[in-house]
Amino acid sequence: MTYDDLPIIQLPPGPSDAELEAERDAKHEAEVARWFGVDKLAAGLTAGAVAFVGAQTADAAPIVGAQGLTPNARALADYITATYPGVQSIGGVRACDSVGDHCRGVALDVMIGNDMALGDRICADIHTQTARFGVRYTMWRVVSHFDHIHITVEG
Ligand SMILES: [Zn+2]
Repeated sequence: MTYDDLPIIQLPPGPSDAELEAERDAKHEAEVARWFGVDKLAAGLTAGAVAFVGAQTADAAPIVGAQGLTPNARALADYITATYPGVQSIGGVRACDSVGDHCRGVALDVMIGNDMALGDRICADIHTQTARFGVRYTMWRVVSHFDHIHITVEG
């Protein structure tokens, strides 16, 4: 029996490119929605209004709301995406909440999913580099901060 004699097995058709793309888009939207849900953001902002900027490679975490970050916040976001490929995304600028750090561009939410060990490593690392990035404070493993590390920096 040669290769040519092998019976042709008809496989059921897999998802089309359009279907795969739709699935990717849905995941992307879900990620944005999850990030916005973290701090109960006002419903005025939609996922479509969010610019995804700053992802240099397929592995690098996207920075959501990179526009308007202060130099320290931007440098810190770039450092984290370059150093920790396990980070899912980083949230930066968004509408003002009670604290106001995000709308002023001085805060980042580093989304780590359920990888608490990764969160611990990043938090410990950031605490050794407070002078380099002008870190004012972090929030990690406190209420509503188990899937992301909040970091506020000086401008
Ligand atoms: Zn935050």
